[in-house]
Amino acid sequence: MIRTRFAPSPTGYVHIGSLRTALFAFLFARHNNGKLVLRIEDTDQNRKVEGAVENLIQVMRAVGINFDEGFYLKEDGSVGERGEFGPYLQSKRLDIYHKHTEQLIAEGKAYYCFCSEARLDELRKEQTALKKPPMYDRHCRSLSAADVKKNFDEFSASGKKPVVRFATPLEGQTVIEDLIYGRIVYENKILDDQVLLKSDGFPTYHLAVVVDDHFMQISHVIRGEEWIPSTPKHLLLYQAFCWQPPKFAHLPLTLNPDKSKLSKRQGDVAVEDFLKNGYLPEALVNFVAFLGWNPKTEQEIFSMPELIEQFDLGKINKAAPIFDTNKLDWLNSHYIRGLQPEVLLAAAKPIWSEKNIAVENYPVEFLNSILNLEKERLKKLSQLGEGTGYYFNQPEYENGLLIWKKSDAADAKAKLQKLQEFFERLDDKEFSRDILETKLKKFISENGFDNGSVLWPLRVALSGLEKSPGPFDLAAALYLGHRRNGILERINAAISKLS
Ligand code: GLU
Repeated sequence: MIRTRFAPSPTGYVHIGSLRTALFAFLFARHNNGKLVLRIEDTDQNRKVEGAVENLIQVMRAVGINFDEGFYLKEDGSVGERGEFGPYLQSKRLDIYHKHTEQLIAEGKAYYCFCSEARLDELRKEQTALKKPPMYDRHCRSLSAADVKKNFDEFSASGKKPVVRFATPLEGQTVIEDLIYGRIVYENKILDDQVLLKSDGFPTYHLAVVVDDHFMQISHVIRGEEWIPSTPKHLLLYQAFCWQPPKFAHLPLTLNPDKSKLSKRQGDVAVEDFLKNGYLPEALVNFVAFLGWNPKTEQEIFSMPELIEQFDLGKINKAAPIFDTNKLDWLNSHYIRGLQPEVLLAAAKPIWSEKNIAVENYPVEFLNSILNLEKERLKKLSQLGEGTGYYFNQPEYENGLLIWKKSDAADAKAKLQKLQEFFERLDDKEFSRDILETKLKKFISENGFDNGSVLWPLRVALSGLEKSPGPFDLAAALYLGHRRNGILERINAAISKLS
């Protein structure tokens, strides 16, 4: 049975890199009919954030990732826990970690360390000065039983607790057979005697992750490349416990286009912000799937079911993927264009309301026609907020914009006055796009005008913009929301600007 897990620390927001890890674990589990566990790694009590788990599951659910075991969102929105290998919150598993640490101590595979912070600092400084990698000097590894007892007594008199360190084998090698990076060999002598249990009684990440992955029967550990240096430590722990280690697949680090490390700043990389800023879940998933994975075909658009079907750890590239926002925007506009009108409308309404547009006062056909015209040019939904105000309210613009490049103010004004008459005479039934086009073109040729000198000022009068949908589309759309009067008001306003 394939069992994998997503094991984040509760930091309060979901980094786009974590979404990639979760997505790959999810795709791998679903592709193989396996199980995906959500475990929360909260061993660093200082970094805990209230509500982080709820937020995490909500974000994951919004993009279509769900978990079989561990934490989930109940109907009432609260967080529940399910699965037979729990608890799934590390701070609730302290007894298990203590028991296993004691076992290692009893077997001589771990030891108490009483060294003070001051001593360790000093040691670090000396080693750095000598250009050596900072490493514990194993001072407490060889303490006699009597010394250990004496130190214990001193510590308890002052209410302190020692840490427990792993007695790393001093010789030999530890080999990772990574499913993505291949074989990586570490000399044991360069590996530190890592702390397993901290003085606050909490395990370190290394101990907790090994114990939990073992007892949660995880078959595949899928995580970021930054954990590779930790993996030999984990493998040595598996060996010390006489447990079979899982398989490891480390995912290459995502980089900015300039090859720098992807920002850690929340505003730039929080998945919840991408969603809030108008990126569609489907676009994000499609984009993130390509951060390292490649179908090795020309296909670029993938739905979640297609990803599940085609995902294969073997198709993950070792080379660092680039976080290319242009690609994300391109994918997002693709998915926006494909949205069902009612879905697009539902997404647009809150964006408009936020801009104080009373959407409820306008007919649905008007709103839909705006979306139909605008969706072609949208990179993200949030642009609807900035870019569509002129459909609702008379636009403001510079007078000069009304003048077509081959013309002048007097001509623009004359053409707008003619247009006023044209729109006054038009039958109500004729305000649809195609009829408008036919009629306007006829009007232009009958009067011997040229297209630009009429259509440019008309389009600017209606939109106030240098670039916008064409005048036939605009007039037809505006008629649905503001009727003939709305169009005439805009033309009048333009005429006054030129007077
Ligand atoms: N808690 C670690 C993190 O925050 C998990 C690393 C792992 O998957 O082993 O990313």
